[in-house]
Amino acid sequence: MPRLSEVIAALDALWPPSRAEEWDAVGTVCGDPDAEVARVLFAVDPVQEVVDEAVELGADLLVTHHPLYLRGTTTVSAGTFKGRAVHTLIKNDIALHVAHTNADTADPGVSDALAGALDLRITGPLVPDPTDPQGRRGLGRICELDRPETLREFAARAAARLPRTAQGIRVAGDPDMTVRTAAVSGGSGDSLFAQVRAAGVDVFLTADLRHHPASEAREQSPLALVDAAHWATEWPWCEQAAAQLDAVSERHGWGLRTHVSRKVTDPWTAHAPSATSPTTPGAPN
Ligand SMILES: [Zn+2]
Repeated sequence: MPRLSEVIAALDALWPPSRAEEWDAVGTVCGDPDAEVARVLFAVDPVQEVVDEAVELGADLLVTHHPLYLRGTTTVSAGTFKGRAVHTLIKNDIALHVAHTNADTADPGVSDALAGALDLRITGPLVPDPTDPQGRRGLGRICELDRPETLREFAARAAARLPRTAQGIRVAGDPDMTVRTAAVSGGSGDSLFAQVRAAGVDVFLTADLRHHPASEAREQSPLALVDAAHWATEWPWCEQAAAQLDAVSERHGWGLRTHVSRKVTDPWTAHAPSATSPTTPGAPN
């Protein structure tokens, strides 16, 4: 059975912490480097529900995409929700490890998993990492579709292939327009509009698009937008990451058991369709 330090060395080889953004907080949050690891759970968010799942599963290591602590902290008191997660983890001998922006830009990374979930053919990164001589790493991915389809069909594909959330899929653009190329970026993507427009793709699939950046992008180009829940765009990475660790485990004869959390930790839990009263702006006459 491998020790935590060996498993973490393998995770760091997949997603080197040095490639994380400067503001990010990746790496091991808690855990004894000498502890043995048999079972690993992958999830997007290190929230209590997921920590409890790790306990129930008997996991020794929880690997999440989002950091638990992003800024400096002076307390891990169980009276705070993050401190409670830390207490639960340590009491149950479960380590927590985070791979965030270092997983975003990896090859394969978060956006490869998103593109893979929709069966899109990747042609390269949206924002290439200048330190990668092969030009395969970077933020987001530019993709081609095997055959052109309408925006309506593309959105339906995203709705069918990504995990179900209360938000579902939001679309901006003519539903009958033809989609041949796409840019995809797991998580919040509205800082990438300039690069998406420069790529000249038909549609941008991402999450958390805000009113003004989305509105300006629509005014400036015919680019269509497909906005899924943040959690849903990053969840496919968990399956990809678990498969990557499985391959390492097999190579070393570690016999690790990996699991992917299916708990929907998107914070939005319900969706109310707008009213259709004739006095409501935007209602059909
Ligand atoms: Zn995210």
